Order: sequence, then C-alpha cells, then structure tokens
Amino acid sequence: MYKLNYQIQFVAAHKLNETPSLKTKECKNLHGHTYQVEIIIQVDRLIDDMVIDFGELKETVKELDHQFLNEFLDNPTAENLSKYLYEKVKEKMDKRGMAFTLEVGVKESDNNLITYSERNL
Ligand SMILES: [Zn+2]
Repeated sequence: MYKLNYQIQFVAAHKLNETPSLKTKECKNLHGHTYQVEIIIQVDRLIDDMVIDFGELKETVKELDHQFLNEFLDNPTAENLSKYLYEKVKEKMDKRGMAFTLEVGVKESDNNLITYSERNL
C-alpha cells in the first residue's frame, strides 16, 4: 500500500453564518486565515508509478488562494471546506480509475484540525 501525504497552505477570507453553534461571534465578521490543508490518499497500486501528480493536488487547492470563500460555500467553516476539497480531490482520483481512500484535513490555525473522509472501500 502507498500512502501519499500532501500539505499545502493558502490564504483566503471568509465570514461565518450566525448559527446557534457559533459562539465566537467575531467570526461572522469578514476576516482571513492562512489555511493549512493536508491531503492523505492511500492506494494499493500505482498508475504510471504515481498515486497522483502533486501538481494536480496543488492546482485544486490553489483555486481557493486569495479568494473570498463565501463565494464557493454558503458557510465556509473548516468542516465545510474540508468536505469541499475532499470532493474536488475525489473527482480527480475517480478519473484515475483506481481504488483509494482519501482524507482531507483543514487547519485555520495551529490549534485546530478538521478532517473529512468517507468510507469508500
Ligand atoms: Zn475564520
């Protein structure tokens, strides 16, 4: 089994919706983060000696660089962002036609990490 772990940062602005769960009220104001993204992919076999070109993963994440995330997601929490990126990477991996497991982690700061994955094996 091969395990790819790709880490990349991007900067972006967002504001969160005021929901009953939002206790840090200043998060509903426009602000920015240096997001840290971690993509973990496991496969049993390679295609062309690769899991996937790191450049494809970079391209996926960099679409969000210097963007206003509310234009991509209704409520761009780290949770929703990890699922959004999961789906984008999953699309690319599905096209490769190999079995894989995928996890996408998103950090808004050094103190928190949200990871999204699905059971797909
Ligand atoms: Zn924030």
